[in-house]
Amino acid sequence: MDECIFCKIIKKEIPKKFLFESDALVAFEDINPSADIHILIVPKSHISGIQNLDDSHGQLLTEIYKAANILVKKNELEDNLYRVVVNGGKAQHVAHLHFHLLGGNWKKEVFL
Ligand code: AMP
Ligand code: ZN
Repeated sequence: MDECIFCKIIKKEIPKKFLFESDALVAFEDINPSADIHILIVPKSHISGIQNLDDSHGQLLTEIYKAANILVKKNELEDNLYRVVVNGGKAQHVAHLHFHLLGGNWKKEVFL
């Protein structure tokens, strides 16, 4: 997946500050934030979308929500407004599975 922008970020071919990193995933700020806090949690392996998940991804999904847990607390969102969202199909613009963590005030009327 040479042309995938998130694969390039993961391979550090595009510089990006990681807010969280483990063997399985990275998290970084969305370049065009829809809310005060807009973080993308991205598996390191190229999975196009939810439609490509199977039983082998159970551990990865647990780790994604563990990362969300850490980032919610780090950004003090527990008592604020936050959502974790995955777009798919025609609602998805980057074809590398990612989880949006959105929190605080919304910057846009229309979601994403
Ligand atoms: P989606 O529509 O769910 O595929 O969302 C893709 C998201 O990736 C959008 O919110 C974009 O702003 C974000 N995005 C695209 N390119 C980059 C990049 N180079 N760095 C950070 N976020 C990006
Ligand atoms: Zn990719």
